[in-house]
Amino acid sequence: MSGQWRVFSIRGTDISLDASWLVIFAFVTYTTATSIIPVRLANESFRSSGAVEASELTLWLAGLVTSLLFFTSILLHEAAHAVVAVRTGIPVRRIRLFIFGGVAEIGSEPSRPGQEFVITIVGPLTSAALGGLFIVLAGNFPAVSIPHVTMTWLGQMNLVLAVFNMLPGFPLDGGRILRSMVWAFSGNFLRATGIASFIGSALGVALIVYGLAQLFMQASSVQSIWTLLIGWLLWSSARGGYKDAKRRERFKGVWVRDVFHSDTGAVPDDGTVQEFMERGLHHDGHETRPVVDPVGRLAGVLVMQDIAGIPVERRSDTLLREAARSVDDASLIDPNESLENAFNRARDEGVRRFLVVERDRLVGAVDVLDVLRRGRF
Ligand SMILES: [Zn+2]
Repeated sequence: MSGQWRVFSIRGTDISLDASWLVIFAFVTYTTATSIIPVRLANESFRSSGAVEASELTLWLAGLVTSLLFFTSILLHEAAHAVVAVRTGIPVRRIRLFIFGGVAEIGSEPSRPGQEFVITIVGPLTSAALGGLFIVLAGNFPAVSIPHVTMTWLGQMNLVLAVFNMLPGFPLDGGRILRSMVWAFSGNFLRATGIASFIGSALGVALIVYGLAQLFMQASSVQSIWTLLIGWLLWSSARGGYKDAKRRERFKGVWVRDVFHSDTGAVPDDGTVQEFMERGLHHDGHETRPVVDPVGRLAGVLVMQDIAGIPVERRSDTLLREAARSVDDASLIDPNESLENAFNRARDEGVRRFLVVERDRLVGAVDVLDVLRRGRF
């Protein structure tokens, strides 16, 4: 994906940074260097009548290190989710840092409440532990010193993260924990998600109202816009989470073989581009067409744009298999895969239409948007 860098990879899990993360990284570095550290140093020296000389450069370096430690803390919170997810059998695609923090993108939703509970609880516990650790570390430095004020701030921030994330609205960690508990007691995943998402959207609305109030009563506009954005994000993802849960419930026990259609629009690999165009197949709305050999094995995919680029004089001696691109495995699906998997893959890999391949033979196609629209089987 563009605007994203894979920084490193631990046991198959990529750690990636979004371009948007640079904005928040720069902002945290700037704020710590120009305001948080100098203000806290001033407060400490006022209280203890000690003093510290810190040059502009020292403050900026301290801001940079603090900011790096802050985002490392967020990364550790997400890594805790990821490690436990993998341990309980859920693959983790990647951990991503972006403008609103971090996210561990797991391969599928937990299938049992206990699993969701443990995967979730370790995140806030990690933040709380880091909070305690930084505060203990801060105590080892003189009160009027850069390490003391930065460690204290890092400790407080981690504790704030732990508490904020434990608010009981889905998709915050606290909301997931609430869902897992209601799910465990009622046995009803959808109702549990409904309750946790409702609280999540309510929290989102509350943050939006608070942000607007802050904005009108002047305060800091950066902070109020931030509150508004977080509120909106929470509100929309709570609603999205409920929709996902409803879909998941509806698609339970439905397989690709139940929904695919056999009209693949396939063309024979030994036909020529000339014949293909004479039959008018290049402008009948298909952007791509599978190319198959005489026994039905997929030989490639014909892309209409490529066809247009073949010179007229070469069309009669260019075979469709020569004009075709090789098949991208991401666009193939087994009829025995679950529909839920198909949707997840469509979302993650940006595939709209899968070719259904069974024992090497092309047997059909499934258009995920189409299935979503039809909605019943
Ligand atoms: Zn978390």
